[in-house]
Amino acid sequence: MYSLNPPSINAADAYSAAVKTIKKKTLRAAYTAASPTVQTKCDAFEVLATNGQFELAESSKFDIAGLLDSAMVELYDKQFSRNQGTAAIRNGIRNAAKNALCPYCGEGYASELDHYLPKTQFAGTTVHPANLVPVCSDCNFEKRAYKPGPGKPAVLHPYFDTAFDLPWLTATVVSGPVGTPVVDFKVGLSQPFPELEARLNQHMTVFKLWKRFGTWAAQSLDNFETLLKTEYGQPMTRQRAREHLRITALQQSGGRVNSWEGATHIAMRESNWYLSSYLKLA
Ligand SMILES: [Zn+2]
Repeated sequence: MYSLNPPSINAADAYSAAVKTIKKKTLRAAYTAASPTVQTKCDAFEVLATNGQFELAESSKFDIAGLLDSAMVELYDKQFSRNQGTAAIRNGIRNAAKNALCPYCGEGYASELDHYLPKTQFAGTTVHPANLVPVCSDCNFEKRAYKPGPGKPAVLHPYFDTAFDLPWLTATVVSGPVGTPVVDFKVGLSQPFPELEARLNQHMTVFKLWKRFGTWAAQSLDNFETLLKTEYGQPMTRQRAREHLRITALQQSGGRVNSWEGATHIAMRESNWYLSSYLKLA
């Protein structure tokens, strides 16, 4: 999970580029007539984003120049997302993902664009670059049309949320139902910020990261056991295991905070039960 710089192209330029790809003149004119309203909605989006208030976003009933919500969805689906005339904008947003990794989970291949506020409910921002996030297909699928609102905290927005840079993801190794180790993830801030904590928990829940991180962590546990049986050959001591796990945590997280790999290897390193009782390291 990591933050990204917002796309450099603004809402007006992206909208007019999408409208230009429409062949039918009368339809193009209607979209052009709707552009001030679209701009107003994009401006409102920016205010909510800057103030961290996406819960207050009001879904729209778009009806301008004969264009309804569905017309704004079509502008994205039929023009923006597939026309050659908007390819540079689309690709620019998608290629901004660091090492092509999805910012929501930090792990998947960012091959798609997600509407942070769903396009079916927020018609004015369907082609607003700040509402389009490069994501992996799993995150896009799990989020679906998630809409923040009262009692439904907003997931982190990679362009606007600084919480990506605070350490908050921790893990522990516990004994699972059949006595084998399981990694449990938890959200924990060093100081109490209940609102932020609720958002972080919701981020983990909406993208099913508890389960997805848990699955990947299970592979790390397997890998380490295999390593003990092969590479080291001789009995490994707890001390050597801890040193190995410390380096692995650093190496695999690249020093990034809130990396499931970093949290997993630190949890393995710190669990006496895992190292002593389960792996039986002396
Ligand atoms: Zn993802």
